[in-house]
Amino acid sequence: MPVEDVLGILRRLSARARSWHAPVVALVARMGKDPYQVLVSCIISLRTKDEVTDGATARLFELARTPAAMATVDESAIAEAIYPAGFYRTKAATIRAVSREILERWGGAVPDSIEELLTLKGVGRKTANLVVSLGHGKPAICVDTHVHRIMNRLHFVETGDPDATEAVLRDRLPRRWWIKVNGLLVAFGQRICVPISPKCTECPVAEACPRRGVEKSR
Ligand code: SF4
Repeated sequence: MPVEDVLGILRRLSARARSWHAPVVALVARMGKDPYQVLVSCIISLRTKDEVTDGATARLFELARTPAAMATVDESAIAEAIYPAGFYRTKAATIRAVSREILERWGGAVPDSIEELLTLKGVGRKTANLVVSLGHGKPAICVDTHVHRIMNRLHFVETGDPDATEAVLRDRLPRRWWIKVNGLLVAFGQRICVPISPKCTECPVAEACPRRGVEKSR
């Protein structure tokens, strides 16, 4: 699909999506941009339902909102605050370790480069891209399974994994869309272009979509 066509689709989805929010995006909207809080909420959100992430982050940030403060909180207290998030014990250990490392290596300031963020144990490309884009307001493309799946269905990319999709999007998608595309397509992918049997009959961009790889739809 040519870039002009995919931009038209993104614009149409944007107009429809004013009430759609991905969990981390919603959190940022409520709390303001804070790279550390974006980082921690991303860690909590992995393999966890939106509503559970929302409650867990709120409880944890009542205990501590900065790397310095978090480094003084017991791992068990972090685990208790974020329960029932998936893998809450592992995530509690990651949050504490990451907080200490940010404190020791960067004086408490979360780095703004993907490369530096990826050196933190437990931080992958998806989280690093969200911290750079939502936390620091710098161009970065967070490609998770939703962005990867939808960009392939639209046939804007033809890739086998999210990292390969990110590379193509960095090359083809204008920078002004880099930050927006994740929140928009996560929300769209949770509601309409769902993983199994997408709701094509209620899709606002159906007439422009080649539905590449879609075998069953509603
Ligand atoms: S038409 Fe179907 S496959 Fe294409 S974007 Fe819409 S919901 Fe997804």
